[in-house]
Amino acid sequence: MTGHAWPEVYKKLGVAPIINAQSWITALGGSIMRPEVLQAMDDAAGVFIDIKKLNLAAGEVVATACGAERGLVTGGCAAAQVLMGAACMTGTSEEKAEQLPDTTGMKNEILLFDGQRNRYDKAFITAGGKLVTFGDGDSVTSEDLEQAITDKTACVAFVVAPFLPAGIGLEETIRIAHERGVPVIVDAAAEVPPRANLSKFHEMGADLVAFSGGKGIGGPQSTGLLAGKAELMEAVVMNSLNLDSSIAAIGRPMKVSKENIVGLVTALQLFTDSDEAAEWQGWHSKAEYVAERLTGIDGVRVEIEDDPSERQGPQPVLYFEEDYSGPSIAEIKEQLEAGDPGIFVGGGGAREEINIVMVNVQEGEEVIIADRFNEILRG
Ligand SMILES: *Cc1c(COP(=O)(O)O)cnc(C)c1O
Repeated sequence: MTGHAWPEVYKKLGVAPIINAQSWITALGGSIMRPEVLQAMDDAAGVFIDIKKLNLAAGEVVATACGAERGLVTGGCAAAQVLMGAACMTGTSEEKAEQLPDTTGMKNEILLFDGQRNRYDKAFITAGGKLVTFGDGDSVTSEDLEQAITDKTACVAFVVAPFLPAGIGLEETIRIAHERGVPVIVDAAAEVPPRANLSKFHEMGADLVAFSGGKGIGGPQSTGLLAGKAELMEAVVMNSLNLDSSIAAIGRPMKVSKENIVGLVTALQLFTDSDEAAEWQGWHSKAEYVAERLTGIDGVRVEIEDDPSERQGPQPVLYFEEDYSGPSIAEIKEQLEAGDPGIFVGGGGAREEINIVMVNVQEGEEVIIADRFNEILRG
C-alpha cells in the first residue's frame, strides 16, 4: 500500500482506499469533506435541535448562495428531483400532496428532451408523474417542445451535464414554457464549480434548480441543494419531510439528518468563500505534472483539456493513435483498478480516450498515477 493510510474503520470491513481520478462520482464516494465540515457535523451531532427551525435556517443559506427566493437542503440532487416533480404536480394543494404517488386528476406529465434521457431521470417521476420526451435522439427544435406541451404538462425538466446535449438550450426552453405558464425544473447536479452556476440558472429564469451537495461543493455525499421561486418552493417543502403538516409526504424517505444539514451548510459557505482561481490552478498543476510524465509514449497523444462544457476541471486526456500497439483502454483501466492502491480514471466506453480527472486527486497522488501509467504503458 502506497500513499494512503488505511483507516481502521475501513480495514475492519476489508475495504481499501482508492485513488479517485474519475471525478465526483457517487460510486467512488463523491468528494472528501474538509476538516471544518467534519468538525461542524461532529458539533451538530451532540445535541438535540428543532429540525423544522434548522431546515428553515439552512434553507435561507441555500437561497442566499443561489440568489433564489427560497431554498432547502435535500437528501441529494436525486431527492431534489423527486421533490421538484412532486411540487409541479401538486402545487400547494395539501390534498394533492397526500394523494401522491397517485396522480389522477393532476397535471402529471414531465417533459424532457429525448437527448437528455439519462440514468438519473427516473427521479423526476418517482413521485408518480409520467416522463414524456420530445425531439428525437440528439435532434430537437423549438416546435418539438411547443407541440409537446399540453394541458397535462406539469413542467419541463432540463438537465445540465457535460455528457448531455443542450438541445434548444435552457433559455429557449424557459421562454417557450413560460409563455404557456409551465414551470422549468433543472437538474444541474455536477455543475459547480464554477461557483457562478449556483445562481446562473435562476438568473435565466428557471423555476427550481437542484445541485448535489456531495460533489464539487464538498458536503456530505447524501445531501443536495434545491432553490427557486417562492410558491413552488412552498410546494417542495410541503412534499418533503414537512414537520408543519400531518400529510404523509412523498418525500419522507428522503429526510436529511441534522448532521448532514449542518455539514452541507458549512461546506457551501466554505465553497462560496474559497478562491476558485487557486483551486483551478491546483488541478492544472497536477494535470501538467501527469501530462509531462506521460509524453513520448509510442502511439499515445496527451492533451490537457479544460473546457467546462466538456470536462470537470483541467485534466490530461490520453488519445490512442493508429500506431499504438499496447494494452486496450479496458485492459489499462483493469490494471489500474487492480493495483495497490486501485486507481480509477475516466474514459473508455463511448469515448476512445482515457481522462485523468484531477478534482479529487489528493496531494501527491498525481505521482502515484504517473508511475502506474508508466509501468503499464512503457513497462
Ligand atoms: C450525480 C448526478 C445526479 C444525482 O445526484 P445525487 O446528489 O447523487 O443524488 C443527478 N443528475 C446528474 C446529472 C448527476 O450527475
